[in-house]
Amino acid sequence: MATSKKAKGKGVRVAVRGQVQGVAFRYTTVERARELGVFGWVRNEDDGTVLVHAEGPEEAVDALVEWLGEGPPGAEVDELDVDPGKVEGHEQFAIRGVSAGVFVVQEHEATAHHWDLRLEVDGVMRSWAVPKGPSMDPAQKRLAVQVEDHQKSHNDFEGKAGKGGVIVWDRGTYEQGGRVAWPEALERGHAVFVLHGEKLEGGFALQRTRPGEKPQWLLIKRKDDVARPGSDIVAESPESVVSGKTLADVIAG
Ligand code: MN
Repeated sequence: MATSKKAKGKGVRVAVRGQVQGVAFRYTTVERARELGVFGWVRNEDDGTVLVHAEGPEEAVDALVEWLGEGPPGAEVDELDVDPGKVEGHEQFAIRGVSAGVFVVQEHEATAHHWDLRLEVDGVMRSWAVPKGPSMDPAQKRLAVQVEDHQKSHNDFEGKAGKGGVIVWDRGTYEQGGRVAWPEALERGHAVFVLHGEKLEGGFALQRTRPGEKPQWLLIKRKDDVARPGSDIVAESPESVVSGKTLADVIAG
């Protein structure tokens, strides 16, 4: 990893308590942070607080913290818990916990058997063919070969295709994560995201290992509360989330 861009400045984690959700707190925090040149993220917590990770030049971070003590018009901030945080090297200030669009995993029997992972990015489905399928086990690094973008209209397709077929193995929504904004994160070859599917859940990373005409990536489950070490989800849950059929059922007609 390059160390030339050493993290500089100050990092804080701030929990903002009071009447702070439902008053555009996150959006105005992003605006303010961008004006100040502060990086990090803001998200709504289930307990009603707003949580902020902020890093950057000390004066800018302090100015954002001071602003958080007031919040936008309509907010009533009762309490600010400010803790030192690590400088993580963020290159954007983003809202976390907001859907970026849909994702789908289609199991596909063609000349080779694979699972197509597709993530909606700017209205099209960026796609990777995963020969062994996705895993919920962080120890499993799955080869994912980038293939051509697909249209969103293909997401629902299930049925025979040539001598093989396709099922909708999983689907849902996802959040873009990581320190770098999308789609630049994909262009740079390291993209972190959170899936909310029926089978796949939690943080994942796509790491490009070989560029070129058919770029090769690794699809890796991140270690989090929903990771399932030792599991083999494509074997445990082979059926379509739409029809309940397996790929073999669909091909047999
Ligand atoms: Mn395919």
